[in-house]
Amino acid sequence: MRTHSATFLAVLLVLLLAATAFAQAPFSGTPSLEQSLEKLTVLGGVLMIAAHPDDENTAILAYYARGRHMRTGYLSLTRGEGGQNLIGPEQGDLLGLIRSHELLAARRIDGAEQFFTRAIDFGFSKTPEEVFAKWGRERILSDVVWVIRRFRPDVVILRFSGTPRDGHGQHQVSAILGKEAFFAAGDPSRFPEQLKYVEAWKPRRLLFNTFSFTRDQEKEAAAIPGRIEVDTGAFNPVLGVSYSQIAGMSRSMHRSQGMGASQRPGPARQFLVPVAGDAPAKDAFDGIDTTWSRVPGGAAIGRVLEEAVRAFQPDHPERTIPLLVKAHALIAAIDDPWAREKLAELNEAIALCAGLWLDANADNYAVPPGATVEVGYTALNRSPFPLTLDSLTLDGMGGAVRTDAHHAALESNQPVNAQLKFTIPADQPYSQPFWLREAKQGDTYTIPDQRLIGLPDDPPLLNLRFGLEADGVAFDLVRPVRHRYVDRVDGEQMRALTVVPPVALNVSRDVVLFPNGESRKVEMEVRADVPKVSGEVRLAVDMGWTADPSARSFEQAQAGQQQPLIFEVKPPHGADPPAQLRGTARVGDREIGVGMLVISHPPLPPLTVFPPATVKLVRASVRVTAHKVGYVMGAGDEMPDAIRQLGCDVTLLTASDLEQRNLSEFDAIVTGVRAYNTRADLRMNLPRLLDYVRNGGRLIDQYNVTDANLVPMGPYPFKISHDRVTVEDAPVTFTNLSNPLLSAPNEITQKDFEGWIQERGLYFASQWDPRYQTVLESHDPGEKPLAGGMLYAHYGKGVYIFSGYSWFRELPAGVPGAYRVFANMLSAN
Ligand SMILES: [Zn+2]
Repeated sequence: MRTHSATFLAVLLVLLLAATAFAQAPFSGTPSLEQSLEKLTVLGGVLMIAAHPDDENTAILAYYARGRHMRTGYLSLTRGEGGQNLIGPEQGDLLGLIRSHELLAARRIDGAEQFFTRAIDFGFSKTPEEVFAKWGRERILSDVVWVIRRFRPDVVILRFSGTPRDGHGQHQVSAILGKEAFFAAGDPSRFPEQLKYVEAWKPRRLLFNTFSFTRDQEKEAAAIPGRIEVDTGAFNPVLGVSYSQIAGMSRSMHRSQGMGASQRPGPARQFLVPVAGDAPAKDAFDGIDTTWSRVPGGAAIGRVLEEAVRAFQPDHPERTIPLLVKAHALIAAIDDPWAREKLAELNEAIALCAGLWLDANADNYAVPPGATVEVGYTALNRSPFPLTLDSLTLDGMGGAVRTDAHHAALESNQPVNAQLKFTIPADQPYSQPFWLREAKQGDTYTIPDQRLIGLPDDPPLLNLRFGLEADGVAFDLVRPVRHRYVDRVDGEQMRALTVVPPVALNVSRDVVLFPNGESRKVEMEVRADVPKVSGEVRLAVDMGWTADPSARSFEQAQAGQQQPLIFEVKPPHGADPPAQLRGTARVGDREIGVGMLVISHPPLPPLTVFPPATVKLVRASVRVTAHKVGYVMGAGDEMPDAIRQLGCDVTLLTASDLEQRNLSEFDAIVTGVRAYNTRADLRMNLPRLLDYVRNGGRLIDQYNVTDANLVPMGPYPFKISHDRVTVEDAPVTFTNLSNPLLSAPNEITQKDFEGWIQERGLYFASQWDPRYQTVLESHDPGEKPLAGGMLYAHYGKGVYIFSGYSWFRELPAGVPGAYRVFANMLSAN
């Protein structure tokens, strides 16, 4: 049992280090060397727990990781799938993927590691009960316990209190589960199935990092008995910044949430309040031995490494290597998790001291199963310290290829390089992020391999292990195989090695609406990832539907070539429940049922996913009288295409359109979500839009947030609030049956509010001028009625509508009733 878990931990460590440790840190050269040498002397760990990307206190993380050299982690229960996206149209799974990588980018700056559970952020919730019902309490508790057992922190810091003061129900749950897990992780009778991989681990103490966003909160926190204080404003002279400044840089990586933060120098007080375990007197690590003495036989190692720190010479880092080599031999003799972890760090420290450049470069980044990749390696010792290269092992995807390098001497600044070959197994799955591979279970991901739970991202597919020797001591360094290339604009770039299908079958729309009984064209695009590929695409549709033809053949000469294939799809008579169309490309004996999507949001790396080649077919009965619709895109949403599905001709309005174009050509103009928050040209041209309404146009504004940019919308005053309805099936009542939005051209009934997703709406109006009529009322269980989700007013010869209902979610998801209500808005008279 013991060796089993030891081996597993060693393997895991390599995966984690390969994924995080030497990814570009913001500090290099001497600061990076000093940081890694100091860290070798510290054996302590701290884990922060909260619910979402952006909940973490990056100043605290930076302080412990960069200032105290502790192993520091952030466990976010979710990947932030339910939020709004400020940098693009991605929502749900894709947004969670983006945020996972934003967090990894933040952690590279603040120096902490990142973890997640299987929980999915399903949107705002008001109570912990609602959250437990959707996630399953034991399931997520098990994940928190797992991360604690694997990470083995001495101190756990909760970011929330577990009370309604935290606001969001998911925030409360992060503290409730964090506290339960603090006790359960050390109890071998809890989640015993985990013990084949890890041992039970009891952290020493549990603290709560109080909110101190405002002066009042800070004052209140400073008065809590037993609280300890951390000054994250302390200056680090080696790094040249304070921890709060690092925190500002780190926090600014949360780009999809618009978390750009200042880098404020000067004092910054943070407070930690004891929750469980023995209370600290002044410091979170009081009474915890964080030196090598905590490991049996470790004291001697500590002395050598402290000498290495003292002896370090910035001009000659290689002179530290003999001490590191001496420590290496001592550490390697100890069987202890700390020893294994520190040994891997020590190997990287030797590399840093030698300026050792190790690279494994594949000839391509996208490779299909069965293909062979050429991997060019380089080993370059940029120091006078003699090193030798003994072996090279390519391993991953269930295989390993070892090459002996026969004791190649790495002479100062003389690269040693050659090529290796690796064949991707024919049954290797495509590189879908591991949490997206299986169907979800409610609002949690399905991850059958326990060892992957908690990880922020897939471990690299293929690694090159360099077997090296220094002063007679053998050590290994692992580098992921990547593809390195030069972009004419952006310079040198790297892409992760990705296993892709020979062709990807992309659907142009995830949802196709059939607003009447007529057939519609559905397009599938075949994109080749290898040269000279041919085959056929077949469509399968549910009963009652037909696709014509049911198969089309394709042939492509070059990789990267794209070929659209058009099929005519005919719906059944009458409105049926939504159906599915499934596309399959057959190439030789391989069947491919996925497309490929590359999400690009620099500075994040390109992110590849393989969405199923399926289309949701929605047969509804929707009439619309508007033909030409102008759309003012705001923060980014998929509404223009949804409106096109109604048969409208949609024009995206530019700044010059808003300023100069004759708007009367449009039957309706719709502003995108948060358009007033994000577009100065829209705010400036609001008078022109209101003129357009007065002259007979229809203007529809969707939700905006109450930030400093927001200007009064609409012809008459109304006030935007934080009111929202988070329960997606909360009852909706009609406040004004004579309002045309409820009857023309589509007769609206309760049925139109069935099957909604995530929420009803957000940022409703809370007060409005009596010239507005309300149309709908909805509210969360037990809360006051909210009628400000849809306001309707005549203005001159036209109509103005404000609506905070979540059309931007419901229409792209293919909710028939949402289309019918929105069609009435476009057709309002
Ligand atoms: Zn949050």
